[in-house]
Amino acid sequence: MVRRVAVVGAGVSGLAAIKCCLEEGLEPICFERSDAVGGLWYYTDKAEEGRASIYRTVFTNSCKEMSCYPDFPFPDDYPNYMHNTRLQHYLCKYAEHFGLLQHIQFKTLVTKVRKHPNFSVTGQWEVVTQRDGKEETTVFDAVMVCSGHQVYPNLPFADFPGIEKFKGCYFHSREYKEPEKFRGKKVLVTGLGNSGSDIAVELSTVASEVCLSTRSGSWVMSRVWDNGYPWDMLVITRFQTWLGKILPRALSDWLYVRSMNRSFKHENFGLMPLDRASRKEPVFNDDLPGRIACGVVVIKPNVKQFRETSVLFQDGTVQDDVDVVVFATGYIYSYPFMEDQSIIKSRDNEVILYKGIIPPQLEKPTIAVIGLVQTLGAIMPTVDLQCRWAVKVLQGKTLTSLSFPFLSFLPQRQGNNTTLQPDYITYMDELASAIGVKPSMMKLLLTDPRLALEVFFGPCTPYQFRLMGPGKWRGARKAILTQWDRTLR
Ligand code: FAD
Repeated sequence: MVRRVAVVGAGVSGLAAIKCCLEEGLEPICFERSDAVGGLWYYTDKAEEGRASIYRTVFTNSCKEMSCYPDFPFPDDYPNYMHNTRLQHYLCKYAEHFGLLQHIQFKTLVTKVRKHPNFSVTGQWEVVTQRDGKEETTVFDAVMVCSGHQVYPNLPFADFPGIEKFKGCYFHSREYKEPEKFRGKKVLVTGLGNSGSDIAVELSTVASEVCLSTRSGSWVMSRVWDNGYPWDMLVITRFQTWLGKILPRALSDWLYVRSMNRSFKHENFGLMPLDRASRKEPVFNDDLPGRIACGVVVIKPNVKQFRETSVLFQDGTVQDDVDVVVFATGYIYSYPFMEDQSIIKSRDNEVILYKGIIPPQLEKPTIAVIGLVQTLGAIMPTVDLQCRWAVKVLQGKTLTSLSFPFLSFLPQRQGNNTTLQPDYITYMDELASAIGVKPSMMKLLLTDPRLALEVFFGPCTPYQFRLMGPGKWRGARKAILTQWDRTLR
């Protein structure tokens, strides 16, 4: 019988984990190394060891209607895309509203998670924590790993020959906070992900020169889509997912490339992804094309070699007198507290998880990794559903009745590439079906046609996954029917 659950981390994933445990009558204890909830969204002026770190001007790239927890909409007067302080405020309100705070032990570091000696019979874990220099070991029936995946920098210096000779300053993007100290400097940013492009654009307002180097290009999208509506409310719909499934691959790839090139032709800007039809996460940046057009951000191919003061690129061009290099080269997965590293990370640094959540090779499935799967959709609804599904699995209620034929397989990120990215709605529906909360289109069509049309043709907002079945939220129907009002507000 699973009763006591250790939750590692009180970010977006950890808060969902605590709430879902409480909904199932379990006893969660969450350990958070910092002094507040929010994880990545809890901004500090200096990067902290073992915790995600963002720059001062981070805004969400998923809009408020698509990014909320499914039973806790954002306040009406919030803008569609939010500054990190607003999102952090929302997370605090969520924790307060659902009484999660009393289940969190702050300033408590999880230093070890290891199998209990009777693990093969009980599935229990020993969790070692450290607080005020005091160490404590507690036995738990299950563990939910919510420690974040954008924490440990990927710095592939082997791919950057000569970096040891370079005399300028260089650092990983997680150390970047604000632009002022780079005034008048010549800067190179490597990596065309969300962080790389944000930092390049921001630095272009103060630096004397900014180059942005990309190995494989990226689709760059605007948050503001057709007629000014949020991109994700128009793109992430059940109708679009259905179209993607029934259309021949070549046609759907063509339509995809066409839609990505609608506001500017990526080829002309040096941004074209090497794999044109790749559905890897696009970069969201409303300003980058304009900065390139104004010549204040210069796009370069991959770096071939660093020299003492200059950088040689693959196309033979050279950037001279470089003062600063920002490596926006992404993150590696790391779970330093796992005594047996092979439980989550396997050979070659790959992560192999059943449904992207449960390590498949254990005698007892009593550990879950939350928030690792990257889809085009937002993280809050994803982790809410992951936690509801995982809590059932941890209790042994679901796995036997599930018939998922495959394992999710998530290779380590290389720079900004996440090689496998499941389709958001398909992934969500799969989890939702397993726990009986997938909205039934047929039932809706027969009983509530207006709602059915909005669910199918409208944005696949998080409320859809709390509309029916266990964990149903009574406000979901109204929230769906008023989602455009809040967007316009
Ligand atoms: P984190 O937020 O990293 O939280 C993990 C928590 O665990 C931290 O509080 C940490 O202190 C704690 N912890 C870690 N190790 C330990 C330990 N050993 N002991 C105790 N505590 C520990 N997603 C979206 O959906 N929409 C967006 O617009 C969006 N924008 C993003 C912008 C940027 C710049 C980045 C980097 C990511 C963005 N994301 C976005 C994705 C982002 O990963 C998620 O939004 C989310 O914050 C991840 O939450 P998490 O709880 O899984 O991890």
